[in-house]
Amino acid sequence: MTIRLLPEKTVNRIAAGEVIERPASAVKELVENAIDAGAHRIDVVMVAGGREMISITDDGKGMTADELSLAVERHATSKLPDDDLIHIQHLGFRGEALASIGSVSRLTMTSRAWGESEAWQLTVDAGKKGEVAPAAFNEGTRVDVRDLFYATPARLKFLKTERTEFQQAHDILRRLAMAHPQVTFSLSDGQRRVFQVSGAQGELLDVRLRRLSAILGGEFADNALPIEADRDGITLTGYAALPTYSRGNAQHQFLFVNGRSVKDKLLTGAVRGAYMDYLARDRHPVLALFLDVPADSVDVNVHPAKAEVRFKDAGAVRSLIVGSLRRALDAAGHRASTTVAGQALGAMQPQKDNLINRGVGPALPFGQKTHLPRYMPPGMAEQSLAYQQPLTDDASKGHMSGLPPQGRVDPSDDDERSAAGFGGTEASEADDVGAYPLGAARGQLHETYIVAQTQDGIIVVDQHAAHERLVYERMKQQLAIEGVARQGLLLPEVVELEQAAAEQLLSRRDDLAEMGLILDSFGDGAVVVREVPALLGKVDVKGLVRDLADDLAEIDEALGLKEKLEEVCATMACHGSVRAGRRLAVNEMNALLREMEATPHSGQCNHGRPTYVELKLADIEKLFGRR
Ligand code: ADP
Ligand code: MG
Repeated sequence: MTIRLLPEKTVNRIAAGEVIERPASAVKELVENAIDAGAHRIDVVMVAGGREMISITDDGKGMTADELSLAVERHATSKLPDDDLIHIQHLGFRGEALASIGSVSRLTMTSRAWGESEAWQLTVDAGKKGEVAPAAFNEGTRVDVRDLFYATPARLKFLKTERTEFQQAHDILRRLAMAHPQVTFSLSDGQRRVFQVSGAQGELLDVRLRRLSAILGGEFADNALPIEADRDGITLTGYAALPTYSRGNAQHQFLFVNGRSVKDKLLTGAVRGAYMDYLARDRHPVLALFLDVPADSVDVNVHPAKAEVRFKDAGAVRSLIVGSLRRALDAAGHRASTTVAGQALGAMQPQKDNLINRGVGPALPFGQKTHLPRYMPPGMAEQSLAYQQPLTDDASKGHMSGLPPQGRVDPSDDDERSAAGFGGTEASEADDVGAYPLGAARGQLHETYIVAQTQDGIIVVDQHAAHERLVYERMKQQLAIEGVARQGLLLPEVVELEQAAAEQLLSRRDDLAEMGLILDSFGDGAVVVREVPALLGKVDVKGLVRDLADDLAEIDEALGLKEKLEEVCATMACHGSVRAGRRLAVNEMNALLREMEATPHSGQCNHGRPTYVELKLADIEKLFGRR
């Protein structure tokens, strides 16, 4: 066996495998270099997904001939003046990117330093460095990378399609652009400019919001809550969207640590924890959060592409994120996203394909009619069908849990008015209409939707979704104060389950008791339920226990106890709420509206769907072509 030191060319290619995984990573390194050089404008061109050519031009401080020559050497950097790996001030510091790229491609760098009259050019071909030669160029730097990975054919084989590589680079550029709103960026595929944002000066939070809406769309800005918090030297700023403005995947979460985009499990876990109360498991919030921590309490040098970080006090970071997101969502109260009404109106606009498409949609049981609009997100149609089922006799006689809530009803909402039903009381109510954001109830449609009139529009409330949320919020409140009040069942109810499900439930017996559900083992695969949470009222015990068993099996082990309890509360609330199909008196409807206004998070149900839609008169006029 002969042990030998590898030649530098080979070492560089091995390193390139780590740092430059794909064309998009070359783009990332080169754009970061331009940002580090103080550029105000950075233009990226990627031909054939970056395989043929990547070209990046900046107006940063540039390099002299000597600097140019050093820059392409391995471990050559200007960014660690005191060899200090703790106080890292730049995006780069490893001094590897240019050497790595040069070892696997044909790299040409042209640069003119600020204040110099001459520009210089240097080419590195598969690790072979050429001579620095004079060139014509403006102040700044251009880096051209041709035939990336031609020197490492194995890597070339593993590249994804051109489109995918381009998309990846686009995503990276968007993230860099979010973190650096003062810089102008553009991305082109050689034919077409695909992305462009202009740099702006001003107060950071303003400039950042403008940049975020340029990238994520104006709707994001309309639906985003500002986040600003700090504790023990850690600062969190940014914008987080309302739960009703959520997405089907987590691709729209942008997290930054000290200006660096990261995809870190700790951070995404904290975001999930903060929103889990408001979103179904398959919905994901849209947000951009910027965490700034003192340089000595985070290690960014744990990952070659610097996508992960290590925090000295991970717990503090997590609780700062969860705490400030929850506070912002609390403060948003009953607000639902602006897009909800827009979607509804869109669905109402006369469309000529309406008739043709009528037969599509989810399969319905024979003879079942549905009034579902066509824009519903996947899964929603099926779920709302359940709410359209007529109530069984038994259930419609059951009392509604705590509705109207005692002491919360507006005193002007007396029985007289409800006796009149809707239609008879407009005159007296018209005066109050403006006083309430959710308006005055005018009637109930299909025993499912409450229609209310506000000063400048109409509110349509999904009574089941709304009530479910209210029960849930009340339950959580009780839980926080003194534990949930229980109510004994006259006849304990035995529920048969699968063995594993029964064991699952019994293993959480104490948690469940804290939430007002008392159950015991009842032989193999069965439990007996003795008491239920009082605010659920008359509840389908079997259904509740079976759903709980399912939920417990699914609830993530990684969640804290509090989060688990909240999940269980949500399941219970769903079972204890007013079903669609129950007729409500006007005072009950108004009580529901007033309680929604007073309850945080009542703009969405426990699954992140809106509980109400607001249509402004102006929008309705548009529908009728009046505007
Ligand atoms: P690092 O960024 O980690 O220092 P690189 O290999 O990416 O390592 O770059 C090496 C050096 O080349 C940098 O430290 C910097 O001094 C110089 N450099 C690279 N790109 C540019 C640029 N666009 N403008 C000015 N200087 C640059
Ligand atoms: Mg670099």
